[in-house]
Amino acid sequence: MNVQDNHKPRRPLVFYYLIAAVVLLLLNALVFPMIQEGSIRKTTYSDFLDGLKNRDIKEVQLEDDVIYYTIDENGKEVICKTGRIADDGDLVTRLDESGAVFTEEIPTQQSPLLMMLFSWVVPILIFVFIGQMISKKLAQSMGGPGAMTFGKSNAKIYVKSSTGIKFSDVAGEDEAKDLLTEIVDYLHYPEKYKEIGASMPKGALLVGPPGTGKTLLAKAVAGEANVPFFSISGSEFVEMFVGMGAAKVRDLFKQANEKAPCIVFIDEIDTIGKKRDGQIGGNDEREQTLNQLLTEMDGFDGSKGVVILAATNRPDSLDPALLRPGRFDRRIPVELPDLKGREEILKVHAKKIKIADNVNFSDIAKAAAGASGAELANIVNEAALRAVRSGRRFATQADMEESIEVVIAGYQKKNRVLSNKEKLIVSYHEIGHALVAAKQTESAPVHKITIIPRTSGALGYTMQVEDGEHFLLTKEELENKIATLTGGRAAEELIFHSITTGASNDIEQATKLARGMITRYGMSDEFDMVAMENVTNQYLGGDSSLACSFETQTKIDQKVVDLVRRQHEKARKILSDNMGKLHELAKYLYENETITGEEFMKILNAKPVEIPVNDTEE
Ligand code: ADP
Ligand code: MG
Ligand code: ZN
Repeated sequence: MNVQDNHKPRRPLVFYYLIAAVVLLLLNALVFPMIQEGSIRKTTYSDFLDGLKNRDIKEVQLEDDVIYYTIDENGKEVICKTGRIADDGDLVTRLDESGAVFTEEIPTQQSPLLMMLFSWVVPILIFVFIGQMISKKLAQSMGGPGAMTFGKSNAKIYVKSSTGIKFSDVAGEDEAKDLLTEIVDYLHYPEKYKEIGASMPKGALLVGPPGTGKTLLAKAVAGEANVPFFSISGSEFVEMFVGMGAAKVRDLFKQANEKAPCIVFIDEIDTIGKKRDGQIGGNDEREQTLNQLLTEMDGFDGSKGVVILAATNRPDSLDPALLRPGRFDRRIPVELPDLKGREEILKVHAKKIKIADNVNFSDIAKAAAGASGAELANIVNEAALRAVRSGRRFATQADMEESIEVVIAGYQKKNRVLSNKEKLIVSYHEIGHALVAAKQTESAPVHKITIIPRTSGALGYTMQVEDGEHFLLTKEELENKIATLTGGRAAEELIFHSITTGASNDIEQATKLARGMITRYGMSDEFDMVAMENVTNQYLGGDSSLACSFETQTKIDQKVVDLVRRQHEKARKILSDNMGKLHELAKYLYENETITGEEFMKILNAKPVEIPVNDTEE
C-alpha cells in the first residue's frame, strides 16, 4: 500500500505563496534598484565640476547628499551621479550661471520598457513557475514519478524499443520466446492471422520462480514490437483509498484502447489477482480492483490488438477467474534454466565484461546447478569485480569459479579464525559428506570441498556437480542423497564421539527430502499413491500444507524418522568401512583448506584399501 506516500507531510499552499512574496520583496529591495543604478554613471565630484565649467550639464537635481545630473555626450543624454560636498556654498549660483536646469526629479531609469519588464513580467513569470512547481508536487504525491505518467494509472509507456532490450538479450527460455514472438508477429501483421480466422490470445501469463527473466522477457517484447508498451506493476494499483485501484485499471484500459495495437504488461500481478476467498473483512479494495480488471479484460475487443502480458511467481494464488481462457489464455512457463540455458545466459552476460578467451562456460554452468538467470548474471559480475580486486584486466576461469561460491555461500570470511579443534571437526564433517557421496555409486561426485568460513555462516561445504541433467530421481537416488546429508554428522560421531550444531542445515534438508518421499512421491509402502501434502508455493520455496488426519500425521512423522535413521546408519557404516581414507582425506583438507574433486578422487583411489568398495548396497 502506498499509505506512506499519501500521508507524507505535504506543505500547505500558503508556504509556496509566502516564498513567492519573499522573493518579490527581495527583488524589489535589492535587485531592481541595482539594475536601475546600473544605468546611472557614477562620477567624481571633480568630473561634476568639470562639467559645470564646460557648461555641459543640462539638468541637475540636488539632494541632501547626492547630485544627479545629466550631460550631453555625443548627442546622447547620460545620467550621472556624484556625492555632494557639504560646504560648497555657491554651487546653486554657479549651476544657475552655467545654464543648467534644476529639476525636481531626473528620471533615474532609462528604458521604460526594461522597467516594465522587471516590475511586471518577471513577477508574473515567478508566479507561473511556482504554480507549476506546486502542481508538479501535487501530481507526484498523488501518483509518484513516472517516465510518462498519464491520467490516473501512471503506467509507463515505452514506444518502440526505448528499453533497448531485444529477444537476443534473453538467453535460454526458447519456448517462452517462441510464444511471445508469435504475439509480436500478430501485432505487426494482423492480416496474416485474420485471413485464416485466427485470433490472438488476449493475454499471456508468464509464470516462474524469481529471477528467471520474466520481467526481462516482457521488456524484450517491448523492444521487439513496434507498438506502444504500457508497463505497470501490480502494487501500483493498490491504493490508500477504496475505489482508486479500480479507477486506475479503468484508466489503463481506456488508454490502451486508444493506443491499440499495443501491449499492456502487468508485473507481479499476484498483488491484485489473489483469490477472492470470501473471508469476512477481506480486502475490499483489492477485490474491487480485481473485479474491474476482469471486467475490462472481457470488455475489450481482442481483434483490436491489445495484448495483456502479466508476470507472477505465485500462479497458484491467482483467482481462477483470471486464468480462464478468454482472459489469460496462454500460460508461459519461465523455468529455471537447464544446463544449456545456464551456459547461454552466462555467455550473454559475459559479453558485457572483459573475460579470458579460454573460459569454459559449460564447466561453470555445470557447477552453478540450480542457479537462476539473475544469479548467473550476478556470478558474472562478481567474477569481474574479483578480477578488478586482484588487479587483473579481465576475468578468468578461476574468477568465475570463485564467484559461484560467493553467490552460493557468500564471501570468504578472512577474519574468522577457527580454533584448530573446530577446523578439524569441520574437516571430518565435510569429508564425511563427500566420502559417503563418492562411495554410493549413484551419488554425484564432489567438485570441491572447502573449510574456509563464508559470510553466509557456512563453516565449510561440499560442492557436488551432477554430470548430466536429471529430471527424474529414483527412490534410491533420493535415499543416497539423504545418506550423503547425514554423512557429516556421522563422521563427527565416529571420530570425536560427540556431536555439534554444525549439522543443522543438513538436518533440515534431509528432513525435507524424506518428508517429500513419503507425503508427495508415494515412496512409502504404507500410503501407496496417496498425497498427504500439497505444495502451495511452487516457485517460492515450495511450502506445503498437510492434507491428512491427525493419526496419519503421527505415522508420517514416524516414517520420516525411520527413513532418515536408516540412511544415517548406512552413512555411518560406509565411513567406518573406509576409516583409513576418512582420516587421510580429512588430514589433507585440514592442511590445505580446499580440496578439488580430482585431488579427492586421487587420494580415494590411491592404493587399493583393505576393504572392497562395493559393500554398501543392500
Ligand atoms: P523475474 O523473473 O523475477 O522478473 P528478471 O526478469 O527481473 O526476473 O531478471 C533479473 C535479471 O536476471 C535480468 O535483469 C537479467 O540480467 C538476468 N536474467 C534472468 N534471466 C535471464 C535470461 N534468460 N537471460 C539473460 N539474463 C537473464
Ligand atoms: Mg520480475
Ligand atoms: Zn554438513
